[in-house]
Parts: sequence; C-alpha cells; structure tokens
Amino acid sequence: MTYSGDPGSGAGGEGCRYVQVRGFLPKYRRYHDIFRFRAVYSLSQQVLRTDASGMPLEWIDFREAVRLYALCQVAYTCGVPLYRIHGGVNAVSRRRSVLEINSIVATRGDSHALLKVRSHYVPPLNNQTLFARDAHLCMYCGSQFPASGLSRDHIMPLSRGGTDGWNNVVTACKRCNNHKAGHAPEESGMELLAVPFVPTHAEYIYLQGKRILADQMQFLLAHFPRTSPLHARLKRLS
Ligand SMILES: [Zn+2]
Repeated sequence: MTYSGDPGSGAGGEGCRYVQVRGFLPKYRRYHDIFRFRAVYSLSQQVLRTDASGMPLEWIDFREAVRLYALCQVAYTCGVPLYRIHGGVNAVSRRRSVLEINSIVATRGDSHALLKVRSHYVPPLNNQTLFARDAHLCMYCGSQFPASGLSRDHIMPLSRGGTDGWNNVVTACKRCNNHKAGHAPEESGMELLAVPFVPTHAEYIYLQGKRILADQMQFLLAHFPRTSPLHARLKRLS
C-alpha cells in the first residue's frame, strides 16, 4: 500500500469503477472534499486488520482503512491491492493524493491484541460464528442448512445446569433440536458428530469472515493452532 501526492496514475483505466464519497474524513476537507475510488474488488470486500506484530485483529471496511491511514496508524501492509482511492487536488501543490489499500493492513498501538492471544481469551458466542464453526451442519443428523434452518443446541440443557458457552453448544437443525428437547444427547438416543471447541481469536476472525481472499486465508491459517479442527475442514474444501 502506498500513500502519496502523485498525480492519479491509473485513474480512469479500463474496467475501473468509481464511487464518489463526500467528506467523511475531515483531514481532506481542505481538498475538494471528494474521493474517487478505483475498486479492483467489490467495495464490500473486507480488509484484514492486524497489529504491528502481524496478529489478526478484525475485519474492517474501506472507510475504516482510510481512517487508519489518515490517523497515521498504518505500520505496513501485505496482500493484494483492493482499492485505489483518489483524494482531491491540493490547492498549493496542484497534485492529487492517491491511497492504495491492500487486503491486509497492520496497525500500530494495539496492546489489547496481546490480551486476546492469551490462552484464556474466549470470543463472544453468537449464532453466526457458532454456525460457521460447525460449517452450517446439524451436529446430530449431519445435514447442511441455511442459517434460518439452524438453532443453538445446548448439549447439556440449561435447565440441567449446562452453560451457554462454546464447549456446551453445537449447531442443530430445528427438527433435531426439538427431538432432543430438554435431554442430554444419549438420553434421546442421539450422537454428536463432532466435539465442540472454543475458537482462538484468529479462528474467530476466520469464522466471522464473509468473503476471505486467498492471501488473507493464508495469513489467518498461520495463526491457527496446529491442533485446530478447522485445518481438516479447510483441507477438504481445497
Ligand atoms: Zn438435524
């Protein structure tokens, strides 16, 4: 990724798609207050943000990436170029600012990242990432469903002292969940197809990803524990 005051080389090239965005960054208001985006990928493509040591932190959109640049928080970048953003023309130098945003952006000053990599870190439980952890498969009948056909099953029911935590929940289709009702699986003659696990922070970011590019995937994989059950799943998919 580069940030320079060079004239907009590559602007208007074949197949470019421009989007104009007005004044979301105060820093640029002294320019023409207009950005022009050349998007190699869809503007909805997420950027992977890491800390300066390369530890994955979160997914951000292009607006947040621009904001990090404006605040001088970007330490370095990796991956493929996603967007080329043209700012306004500087009134003094008459040069147009250009900002290229890559698929992975490392930022400074994220001490909270250290907390997240400690072994006791537990990511928040929500159905979206729970269903992703279990590959949208019912962990009892093995069938795959869209999110609307799935539910969170407590292996040991809450009414029996079970917890609402990653180790006690699995994805279940509504039919299996109804059949199991307030029982433990063995009491209903049901068997779990996989052992539930607590995702690490890097695994959690992977599970949150909407459309993960190959270079982002490679980066995340390098931070998965060697024993991660996701390795086997990803190998099957490749
Ligand atoms: Zn089922």
